[in-house]
Amino acid sequence: MFFILCLLPILGTAQETERCKVFYSEDSADFEQWMQANQSTPTELEERMDFNIPMIFHIVHNGDVLNSIGNTSAESVYAQIETLNEDFNRKLGSNGYNDHPDGASLSINFCPAKVDPDGNVLQEFGINRIQRNKPKWSTSEIRNELMQEVYWDPSRYLNVYVVEIATSGLTRFLGFAQFPSSSNLSGLNNDQGGASTDAIVLHNAVVGNHEKVPNFGLLNENNLGRVATHEIGHWLGLIHIWGDGDCDADDFCSDTPNASDPNNSCLENQSCGEIDMIENYMDYSPDACMNIFTNDQVARMITVLRNAPRRKSLNTSNVCREPINQSFFDNKITIGPNPVQGEFFINFNYSEDLSNAFALGVNLFDTQGKRIFNTSRKVDDLSFNIDVPAGIYFVQVSYEDFAKSFKILVIE
Ligand SMILES: [Zn+2]
Repeated sequence: MFFILCLLPILGTAQETERCKVFYSEDSADFEQWMQANQSTPTELEERMDFNIPMIFHIVHNGDVLNSIGNTSAESVYAQIETLNEDFNRKLGSNGYNDHPDGASLSINFCPAKVDPDGNVLQEFGINRIQRNKPKWSTSEIRNELMQEVYWDPSRYLNVYVVEIATSGLTRFLGFAQFPSSSNLSGLNNDQGGASTDAIVLHNAVVGNHEKVPNFGLLNENNLGRVATHEIGHWLGLIHIWGDGDCDADDFCSDTPNASDPNNSCLENQSCGEIDMIENYMDYSPDACMNIFTNDQVARMITVLRNAPRRKSLNTSNVCREPINQSFFDNKITIGPNPVQGEFFINFNYSEDLSNAFALGVNLFDTQGKRIFNTSRKVDDLSFNIDVPAGIYFVQVSYEDFAKSFKILVIE
């Protein structure tokens, strides 16, 4: 099993310089073979598609006041998601931009889920707040208790647990992630872990972006949202750029210079005959000096997004869209003006930019139940001219199994 723990030395102790550790299993060789075999070619890169990653942040608190570091605000979550989109897309004008010749963009969209697994619209998009009578969680408690109790289908959601991770000795854990499982591909037996733990975990003191939403509880060197970028890099198959070993250890990306150790500062460093790429998200440098994924790293992530179970399925997950259901019809569709004089409109209060994506059925009945007309209209074209005798009529609006009827008075 692959599991990656990212650690941070406790402030005030100089002994611990490593903030992250990776535990490999005997499956790692299989995983690398699979990755090599499935590496995207440059041609594929040019034709690459956009990827869609619905996210749910399980914010686990201990009765902490809302919008505190122990119960992260929705604004901080959205700042975090915005940061991910900047970093993975190398967005011009953002902290995630670089002009490095090896820099690359993944063309990906991280979005907050709008519905829970049962289809209910979330009170706070992308957020599931969980109160537990427990101030801190060890990594094993997170994996063996919390994740087993609470996880949303990882083929539809990227589960993100935000929790105060307990320190271990002199080391503070910033987060961890599960590598992509590939057991259905290439005949390889490389199970990286079950569905319930197929997630990323973030210490609650690193979630958000201090520049976007000031939050004075964030750790100084990790207040720009890059721990999440790093962990999702792992979740998409990336390995630390020093290969978790000396100069002979590889991260299987030829455009990230070999390094012998992680870097913990923004100072230039040379460890294996080349200057270390401290600005790479897969190093341990402070958030402020990170801004690059390389072409080879992006190729690995694309390979995973196209092939790995519980990754490729996210691209067709529709949980970031507001559902069209009966509740939606009851609450968000109105008609007017009423009385009607020649023309009426169906008002469709839909927040998504899906104006051409689907059509509504529209029927007009008289009081005897006789259908006057029956039409199907795209949701961006919902005005109707009617030429009927004055009187009472009924307009029925429908979509799939859902419908709502309106009584209108037509006047001369
Ligand atoms: Zn890591």
